[in-house]
Amino acid sequence: MLDFCRRNLRKGNKAEKKTALVTHSVLPPLKRLSRDQHPISRKQISPNALKVLYRLKDAGFEAYLVGGCIRDLMLGLEPKDFDVATNAKPEEVRQVFRNCRLIGRRFRLAHVLFGREVIEVATFRGHHSQPDENEEGQHQLSKASEEGLILRDNVYGTIEEDAERRDFTINALYYSINHFEVLDFANGVEAIAERKIELIGDPETRYREDPVRILRAIRFATKLNMQIAPATAEPIPQLASLLKSIPPARLFEEFLKLFLAGKAFDNFMLMKQYGIIKQLLPALHKAIAQEPEGKVFQLVSQALQDTDQRVADNKPVTPAFLFAAFLWYPVEIRSQTLQLESGLPPVDALNIAMAEILSDLQQRIALPKRFSLVTRDIWSLQNRLARSRGKRALTLLQLPKFRAGYDFLLLRAKAEGGELQQHADWWQRFQQENESGQQQMLQQAGPAADGPSGKTRRRRNYKRKRSSQPKP
Ligand code: ATP
Ligand code: MG
Repeated sequence: MLDFCRRNLRKGNKAEKKTALVTHSVLPPLKRLSRDQHPISRKQISPNALKVLYRLKDAGFEAYLVGGCIRDLMLGLEPKDFDVATNAKPEEVRQVFRNCRLIGRRFRLAHVLFGREVIEVATFRGHHSQPDENEEGQHQLSKASEEGLILRDNVYGTIEEDAERRDFTINALYYSINHFEVLDFANGVEAIAERKIELIGDPETRYREDPVRILRAIRFATKLNMQIAPATAEPIPQLASLLKSIPPARLFEEFLKLFLAGKAFDNFMLMKQYGIIKQLLPALHKAIAQEPEGKVFQLVSQALQDTDQRVADNKPVTPAFLFAAFLWYPVEIRSQTLQLESGLPPVDALNIAMAEILSDLQQRIALPKRFSLVTRDIWSLQNRLARSRGKRALTLLQLPKFRAGYDFLLLRAKAEGGELQQHADWWQRFQQENESGQQQMLQQAGPAADGPSGKTRRRRNYKRKRSSQPKP
């Protein structure tokens, strides 16, 4: 959880302006739900999370379960993980638990480790202080950039202040082991009943503090089957460009949550509607805009829907495949332009186009190399799968990336049909055949389909002949 505070910490930025961002409470009166007024039973809570709460309590601290886990339990869903908020400082948390690791240099969080389960324990965060008053305090500084982006978030505070710093009203629910109460600081229970995603405080200010909240609003709306409240939705299109200021590594992590958690298609459609695809994947946006319901959109939709289906079936999914789908047509378009304008041969043009498009992507979203290499392989295989029907077909079949490349060909065939469908059918049969069947298919595939291809080989032979001739 509270990843955002760690990630927002950046080293000294000259443009930092010392401002107080929030000076008075925007919260409604606190509502307390006693045990008989909410559905959360201790049986549904991770025993390790309960252990953390009791140990902190015994050591004289306040401790609560907070955020997504309480929201999900209220909704009858199984929480992904359990997060704790406490008035104990990170060092104090460490003294209570031996199995504890402090992480984050400037904003310290405690991870209490129980085998593979990690319970994240965060100290209540407070309001942003007035300039200078806390300058010397190591953990007491919050700063905002000129644009209102929070660069540091290191002030500790009360539970009320902690609630106010959270993003959505449904995420500001706290569960206490004292009387097994739920503390509702921002009318989150009502919002859950109304199925409404609503930011705490002034939406524009909250988006400017951390534009990733735009993506989180969309993600929670689709994940929880809720609507974004009008005032929370309204500023999104205008502020979507703020996402460009988010560090690419953080955006990649958000992309994983948006696209590999079972709601990829719905998230994409909302992101498109709110003008976010235009900001984060401008090349894709342009390609779709040329023909809104055309093959580009079909390919991407199919890839997203297939991904959602795989997640539902508990099959593995990879971001490499999705990025291959997002950027395949931009690569094709660029490659064609390079051939036409610079007279580059197709293979060279494709290589340059792939490198350009991937490097452009890295400026915004840091797709790790282990994935971008696979994306590249998938793209490179497309031409080879379309042409190599001779003996090379057998070699291709042995390549580790064959499966991904073939799956991508199927996807393109679904989006475009025509000749691609024939190639896809041929490969499907080829894989099903035994050795002799495969040999037969290779013989049947006439010279036109042979190699990458007959033409290239002829050219090579021609060169070989020439170079073997004695020079005059
Ligand atoms: P899930 O884990 O299901 O994606 P979550 O709500 O638990 O949802 P986390 O990213 O785990 O999301 O964050 C835990 C809690 O921390 C949130 O419920 C929210 O209260 C707070 N939080 C997380 N990110 C932000 C943010 N960018 N701004 C303000 N509060 C945030
Ligand atoms: Mg969580």
